[in-house]
Amino acid sequence: VGGISKEPPLHIVHIAVEMAPIAKVGGLGDVVTSLSRAVQELNHNVDIIFPKYDCLKDNFVKDLKLDRSYHWGGTEIKVWHGKVEGLSVYFLDPQNGLFQRGCVYGCADDAGRFGFFCHAALEFLLQGGFHPDILHCHDWSSAPVSWLFKDQYTHYGLVKTRVVFTIHNLEFGANAIAKAMTFADKATTVSRTYAKEVAGNSVISPHLYKFHGIINGIDPDIWDPYNDNFIPVPYTSENVVEGKRAAKEELQNRLGLKSADLPVVGIITRLTHQKGIHLIKHAIWRTLERNGQVVLLGSAPDHRIQNDFVNLANQLHSSHGDRARLVLTYDEPLSHLIYAGADFILVPSIFEPCGLTQLIAMRYGAVPVVRKTGGLYDTVFDVDHDKERAEAQVLEPNGFSFDGADAPGVDYALNRAISAWYDGREWFNSLCKTVMEQDWSWNRPALEYIELYHSARK
Ligand code: ADP
Repeated sequence: VGGISKEPPLHIVHIAVEMAPIAKVGGLGDVVTSLSRAVQELNHNVDIIFPKYDCLKDNFVKDLKLDRSYHWGGTEIKVWHGKVEGLSVYFLDPQNGLFQRGCVYGCADDAGRFGFFCHAALEFLLQGGFHPDILHCHDWSSAPVSWLFKDQYTHYGLVKTRVVFTIHNLEFGANAIAKAMTFADKATTVSRTYAKEVAGNSVISPHLYKFHGIINGIDPDIWDPYNDNFIPVPYTSENVVEGKRAAKEELQNRLGLKSADLPVVGIITRLTHQKGIHLIKHAIWRTLERNGQVVLLGSAPDHRIQNDFVNLANQLHSSHGDRARLVLTYDEPLSHLIYAGADFILVPSIFEPCGLTQLIAMRYGAVPVVRKTGGLYDTVFDVDHDKERAEAQVLEPNGFSFDGADAPGVDYALNRAISAWYDGREWFNSLCKTVMEQDWSWNRPALEYIELYHSARK
């Protein structure tokens, strides 16, 4: 029967430094967990090798046990095994303190710490007698797996193992990425359009023959408004209006905003240049001018940007306290309530390899308002301009988008979005239902990865 593969299950080992929910910094953490779950669900075997950070949220680790220990790199490395979201995870716990720093990133020796981790992970596989089909590594932080493996480990009984390297963001660690691209058997990035956007980059261009854009998905069980402890009323597309109304009321109460039937624009983001900081600020003022409410949840790794937003928050909370709230921390539970309670989620990125916020937004029936770049271009189809492009994907248009990286650009999309809310609530509600019913899970992309894994072994 067509479509049923006779190939035996693959054994895939991810070597990664972020993983939701135990140590998530951004989208990479979501992807490691949700891609692994999707591939495992298709009956392949998946293991993850992960640093045993002191800051792990270990209440999400089940059945944690000491598995073995070995010596390498001048230290003892204890190996713990546990289950995270149903996935098998080996935690490397070097006794030299490299992961006892209270953080994932942010140390002066990050490159050295993760380089050590990658090498230790390969050593663990070798000494443990593992023979995976695929080693999957991610971004600059586990890029060393690619060249260390080809340099030092292919000869040692790991001959059938192939390396897949995924770029989640080309912005960071270009040298490590360049080297990993050279040695990997296959390389991917997280959307077709971002793959095209970076194809001319000298780090990528020599390797286009083995480079593919595969869109990220979200895990529909982890992001599920029908089964979510952080929102007041469970909902599906059938009762989206009722569910979102309750979530909006709770959001307004929780954040001290006026309880009123107003359009709510939500923004959930790392506050960095990539995310379009000047466009975010402009959109806040434009939303207030249109008598909407705006909620921003975000934090900035750069102190100057964080301070700048603290000042903006003080200003807004005194001038528009009933309609604007900026929460300048990382807060997973609050993010759920915002996705559920907001009418719109704004993502005005300057560049965006894939973007998960717009996908999560749609799962919660919030309409995305985005800049047309990278994965945002591939997943959001403007209700006025992208009907044909959406049809080609067998989709209905699902949001509002704009091109320019300036104030008139944001205005163009945001004004149409807010007007649609004021002028045609029935139409707007049917749009919420449409976006909720679209499938942005791993269903399709996981199959593309499995095909890629197979092709790496040919
Ligand atoms: P990136 O990886 O560039 O940060 P993505 O859109 O791929 O961007 O992924 C962002 C993820 O991080 C989403 O799951 C989003 O909900 C979450 N997130 C971002 N900022 C915050 C925050 N301040 N609090 C809670 N979750 C956040």
